[in-house]
Amino acid sequence: MSSSNPGIHESFEEQDIISNLIETARGLVANDIGQSKEFFQKALTLSRNVKFQSGMGDCYFELARIHVLQKNYEAAISSFMDAAASYSQAHNYKGAFDSTFALAEAYLNYGSYDLACEAYYDSLEISGKVKDPECAGLVLNKLGDTSRLTGNYDKAISYHTQALRIFEETGNRKMQAETCYLLGNCMNWANRIDLAYEQLDKSLNIAVAEGDPELQIKPTGSMAILFTKMKEYEKAETYFYKAIDLSGITQDAVLKADLLKNLGQLYIAIDRYDDALDILNRSLQAIKDSGAKYPINQIHKSIADAYEKKGDPIKALDHYKKHASLANELLNEEIAVKTRSLQFKHDFEKIMKEKQVAEAAVKLKDQFISNLSHEIRTPLNGVLGMTSLLSDTNPTPEQSEYINTIRLSANNLIETVDNILDFSKIQQGEISINAKEFHLRELVSSVVQLLKVRADEKGIGISLRFDEHLPNKVSGDDYRLHQVLRNILSNAIKYTEKGSIQVDVNVTEVKGNEVKIIFSITDSGIGIPDTKLPHIFDIYSNPGTVDSKIPEGTGVGLAIARQLTELQGGTISVNSTVGTGSVFKIELPFKTTEPLKKNLQGSKNSTPIDLKDLSDVVILLVEDNKVNQFLAQKLLGKMGFKVEIANNGREAIEFLRIKEFNLILMDVQMPEMNGYELTQTIRTSLPNPVNQIPVIALTAYASVQEKEKALALGMSDYITKPYSPHELLTAVMRQISKAKENAHKDNVLITHEMIRQSSNKMLHLFSDNKEDVISLFQMLASQIPAITDEISKHIEAQNWQATFQAVHRLKSSVQLLKIGSLIDRINELEEWTRDEIQKDRITRTFDSFKKDCELTTSLLKEEIIRLKNSKS
Ligand code: ADP
Repeated sequence: MSSSNPGIHESFEEQDIISNLIETARGLVANDIGQSKEFFQKALTLSRNVKFQSGMGDCYFELARIHVLQKNYEAAISSFMDAAASYSQAHNYKGAFDSTFALAEAYLNYGSYDLACEAYYDSLEISGKVKDPECAGLVLNKLGDTSRLTGNYDKAISYHTQALRIFEETGNRKMQAETCYLLGNCMNWANRIDLAYEQLDKSLNIAVAEGDPELQIKPTGSMAILFTKMKEYEKAETYFYKAIDLSGITQDAVLKADLLKNLGQLYIAIDRYDDALDILNRSLQAIKDSGAKYPINQIHKSIADAYEKKGDPIKALDHYKKHASLANELLNEEIAVKTRSLQFKHDFEKIMKEKQVAEAAVKLKDQFISNLSHEIRTPLNGVLGMTSLLSDTNPTPEQSEYINTIRLSANNLIETVDNILDFSKIQQGEISINAKEFHLRELVSSVVQLLKVRADEKGIGISLRFDEHLPNKVSGDDYRLHQVLRNILSNAIKYTEKGSIQVDVNVTEVKGNEVKIIFSITDSGIGIPDTKLPHIFDIYSNPGTVDSKIPEGTGVGLAIARQLTELQGGTISVNSTVGTGSVFKIELPFKTTEPLKKNLQGSKNSTPIDLKDLSDVVILLVEDNKVNQFLAQKLLGKMGFKVEIANNGREAIEFLRIKEFNLILMDVQMPEMNGYELTQTIRTSLPNPVNQIPVIALTAYASVQEKEKALALGMSDYITKPYSPHELLTAVMRQISKAKENAHKDNVLITHEMIRQSSNKMLHLFSDNKEDVISLFQMLASQIPAITDEISKHIEAQNWQATFQAVHRLKSSVQLLKIGSLIDRINELEEWTRDEIQKDRITRTFDSFKKDCELTTSLLKEEIIRLKNSKS
C-alpha cells in the first residue's frame, strides 16, 4: 500500500501540522535565517503534496521575503508570483494582494518599472476582493510614484487623486497627509506651482493637526524646494531649516543630507558662497556617516560650483573630479541593473505566457466539473426536498409508493453523478491514497449507521460484527475505505427487498506491524447471475435487474470500488446466487502500532455491535432561510438527532452560551455576520470547550478553494448545498466520532507513545524521510527549552507583552507535536497573557507546563536517537 502519497482529499490534520511548521519557521527568521528557510522549503513540499494551497502561498511568500532580505531579487520575484497564484487558488485575496504588491516592489528593486506597474495593476484588481478599501489606495499611490519616476506626471497626479479620495472616505488622516504630499510633489515636477503649493500646504496642515512631526518632514522639505523654484529665497530658507530640524527625529541621514544639499544650492543661487560651503560640508558629512552613496556626487558638484563662484578653481576642480568619478560609478551600476532587468524581462515574459496557457486549461476543466456537479445536483436535490415535503401531506398508500420511487430514483441519480465525477478523477490519476491513523470500529459503524436509515425505510435489518482481535486504531485511507464500504453496502440495500444484511469485519493475517482485514457484506437480495459475475467489477456492467421497480444503475459504483480497493493495496471479490443473495468481500492491508495476536487460525470470535442511538446528540443549525431550516430539521430529526435552530449569528452565540451542543451546522451565506465570521468568533471569543465544537459549513459553492477557505477559518468540514441526507449524515457522524476521540486525549501525561505518534505522523508527512524528521525534532528540542526559559524571565519581570509574544512563538512548535494537554495549556497562557488577565494563574500553569515541556524535550531526544538507530 502506498502510504506516503496523500491524495486530493487533503487531510485537515496534515494542514494543521503544516500551518504550525510554517509558524515555527516564521519564529526562526530573526535568529536563524538559514534554518527558517530550510523549514519553509520543507513546509512547501508538504503543502504541495497535500494540495494545501494556502500553505503553499504562505511558504512562497515567506521564502520570497527572505530572498529580498538577501537581495536575491530574481528568486524573490519568482516566489512572490508563486505565492500570489497559490493564494488566489485558495481564495485568500489578502494573501494574493500582499504577494502581488510585494512582487511589484521587487521589480522596482530590480529596475523594471513596467513590470512593476503590471504587478501593481494586478494587485489593484485583487484589492477589489479584499474587504479593506485602503489596499486600493496604497496601490494607487505606488502607481503614482512609479509614473512620476518615469516622467509621466499627469498619470501620476490622476493616481494620487484617486488614492486621496479613498483615504478621505476611510477617514485616514495620516494617509491623506502622505497622499497630498505625493500629489504636491508631482504638481511641482509638472510645473503647476500653485496647485503644488495648495497640496503641500494641505498635507502640512493635516500633519500639524495630527500632532505628528514625522509626517511634517517631507511636505516641509518640498515646500522649501517649491519656494526656491519660485525664487522666494527667504521663505525657502525658513522651510529648509524647519525640515532639517525635523529630520533629526527620524535619523534619516539621506533625507537630511538631501535637504542640506538643496539649502546649499539655494545659498549658491543667492551668492552666499561661504554659507553654501558650510552647509554642503555638513551634508557631505551626514551622507558619509550613513554609508549611502547617493547623492554624494551631487554634493561634490555643488561644492565645486560654490568654490568656482568664490574664485577658487583648484578646489573646484578637485570636487568636480570626485563628482565625475562617482557619477560614472553610479551610471555603471545603473546600466548593470538595466541590462539585468532587460534579460530578466525577456525570460519572464516567456515563462508567464506558458504559465497563463496552462492555468487557463486547468481552470476550464475545474469549472466544467464543478458546473456539471452543480447543474445536475441542484435540481435533483430540489426533487428530493419536495418529495420529502410531499410525503408529509398524508398521501394515499398508492401515492406513497410513487413518492418512494421518486426518492429512490433521485438518490440513485445523485450517487451516479458523484460516482462519475470520482471515476473520471481516478482515470486521470487525480486520486491517490492518503493514509492516516483512524478508529476502525468507529469508521465501519458510521458507514453502517449512515445507511441504516435507508434499510429501515425498506424494513430490512442490518447487523454488524467485529472480530475480537480487531485493532482499535489502524493507519490507512479512512476516506476511501468509507467510500468503498458505502458503495457495497448501499448496493446490498438497493438489491435486497426482504431479509437482512450482515456486515462482518475480521482480521485475516498479522505480519509485523501490518494487519490484513476482511470486510464481508452479505445480503439476502436478488443475487447476480453467473454469466455476469466475472465482469461485475468492470465499468458499465449492469446485468439488468429482475425487479422493474428498481432503477437500473450505471454500473460505475463497483468499478470505482475495485479501483479504490486496489489503490489501497487490497482485493475485492464476490460470491452470489440468484434468488439467495450475494457476499462481497474486501480485503485490505493496514498498519497498526498495537500489539496483535499472531495466530489467528480458528479465532472466529466476533461480537455483534449495537448500532447507535443518536438521540443524545444535539445539533445547532444556524440557517437564515426558512425552507432550508425546515428541510434540514426534518432530515436530522429523522436520523434521530435533536436539533435547535438559530436564525443568525447573534442567536447562535446566545444559544451556545446557554446550551450544550455536540455539533454546529452552519450556513455560510448569511446576512449581517456570515458563517466564516461566526466561526471565527466562536473559535476566538467563546470559552473552552464551546470554542472546540465542530462546525460543518453548508455552502452553495463546490470548489476546492472554498473548502480550503472554510477549513482555514476554523471550520471542521464542509458540505455543498443542496446536500443529500447521505452526505449530511456522513459529515455529522465523522465529526462526532472525531470529537469523542479528542475528548479522550485530554488530561494525559506526555508519554513515549505520544512522541512516537507525532514521529510517525511526521514520517508519513515527510514521505518516510527520517533525516527531515530528525532535523525537525532537533530544532524543536533546542527551541522549546530556549523559549520556555525566555518566558520564565518575562513572567518574572511581569512583562506580559513580551510573555505573550514568546508564548505565541512557542505555540506553533507545541502544536506541531499534537499533544493535546500541552496545546490546551498554551492556548490558555496565550489568551491570559494577551489580555493580561488571570495573572495569578499564569505562573502556576506555566510552571507545570514548563515541566511537561522538559519531559517532552527529553522524550524528543530519545526519539531522535531511536530514529537514528532504526533501519529505514
Ligand atoms: P449500479 O448499481 O449503479 O448499477 P454498480 O457498479 O454498483 O452500479 O453495480 C453493477 C451491477 O451489479 C448493478 O447494476 C447490479 O445489477 C449488480 N449488483 C451490485 N451489487 C449487487 C448486490 N448486492 N446484489 C445484486 N446485484 C448487485
